Amino acid sequence: MTDNSASAPITQDVVTIPRRLPEGARRNLVGLTREQLAAALIEAGTPERQVKMRTGQIWQWIYHWGVRDFAAMTNLGKDYRALLAERFEIALPEVVTRQVSVDGTRKYLLRIAGGHEVEMVYIPEENRGTLCISSQVGCTLTCSFCHTGTQKLVRNLTAAEIVGQVMLARDDLGEWPRPGAPKDETRLVSNIVLMGMGEPLYNFDNVRDAMKVVMDGEGLSLSRRRITLSTSGVVPEIARCATEIGCLLAVSFHATTDEVRDRLVPINRRWNIETLLAALRDYPRLSNSERITFEYVMLKGVNDSDEDARRLVRLIAGIPAKINLIPFNEWPGAPYERSDWERIEAFADIIYKAGYASPIRTPRGEDIMAACGQLKSATERARKSRAEIAAEAGLGG
Ligand code: SAH
Ligand code: SF4
Repeated sequence: MTDNSASAPITQDVVTIPRRLPEGARRNLVGLTREQLAAALIEAGTPERQVKMRTGQIWQWIYHWGVRDFAAMTNLGKDYRALLAERFEIALPEVVTRQVSVDGTRKYLLRIAGGHEVEMVYIPEENRGTLCISSQVGCTLTCSFCHTGTQKLVRNLTAAEIVGQVMLARDDLGEWPRPGAPKDETRLVSNIVLMGMGEPLYNFDNVRDAMKVVMDGEGLSLSRRRITLSTSGVVPEIARCATEIGCLLAVSFHATTDEVRDRLVPINRRWNIETLLAALRDYPRLSNSERITFEYVMLKGVNDSDEDARRLVRLIAGIPAKINLIPFNEWPGAPYERSDWERIEAFADIIYKAGYASPIRTPRGEDIMAACGQLKSATERARKSRAEIAAEAGLGG
């Protein structure tokens, strides 16, 4: 095929690096599943009959108490602590910058192995705090309205780098429990959304392992119903997400005809609306969860007509759903405009009258470019030109 716009990569063509540790380096324990942690401990010389207990103890230190230093793991023998310190480390990504918006939203720029950078956003609300984490550096997909999609360099995050984001947020918010203090049930990081940089279902194994760690009841202990994974529609992985993770699902729907969705979300050329909807119909049963969130970015004159709203309602009939309307967040060079407020409200009204919750997502942290779709790490400025983006979006040019 010579059509340039169709040549945008819509398959996973990146690997997770670093794959192998340099000689003599200590292995990071963060992000290992319980089974992997046990295997690492055995390899380091932990007697088989002790390994279950040791795994549990170390797990609690790392994920319940937030301890980073093996010397502080006081229920382990001195020699054993020394052995652990020699072989392993408890390492998190490095915080490069931290910005706080006027509305309290915090945006972090994090540096990971190889000098790559990703962003993470914390959004405090009245009754909860949502942490928006990244799953890849950049994204292989090139949705035409998304800033992240214009970033050229892409690599998958490791499970350690994904779990590490949650731990860093707890560090910054001072949320680790204090020994002896009464149990505090209010959680600052009460919800996690995989809606930062990257397509989480193109980094499935690492995302799954990281979420297993995060959901473990003896550690970070976030229930699977407080985790929402957002996908642009990687159909073959949707059922696995239900059965192997079991979290809530959000889908970046954004259009009601294949013609428009092909332009906005290019993965639609591979798995179209009908195929996507079929996978979504099975999700609630497979994951034993309730509603699927349909994300719908409001782009002026592109996907925001009354007819679109009515078509959307017809398409999703029978799927337990909530429709999250996202006013388009602008970024430098973006080829779209945000729909007018009255248009968004009229659209929401049609969906609401059809019996679906249709909240309009208030943009958060816009002043620090922390809102949906604005994330893009500062060092990855190799941005495509406005003309290239417009061409890919099928807007001429
Ligand atoms: N890659 C995944 C998750 C990250 S994007 C996905 O696409 O689902 C999180 C959400 O923000 C998606 O629904 C995405 O479509 C939306 N988004 C991207 N750019 C946006 C922008 N400029 N304004 C508003 N929402 C945007
Ligand atoms: Fe990637 Fe999601 Fe952005 Fe599309 S919207 S380019 S899938 S991060």
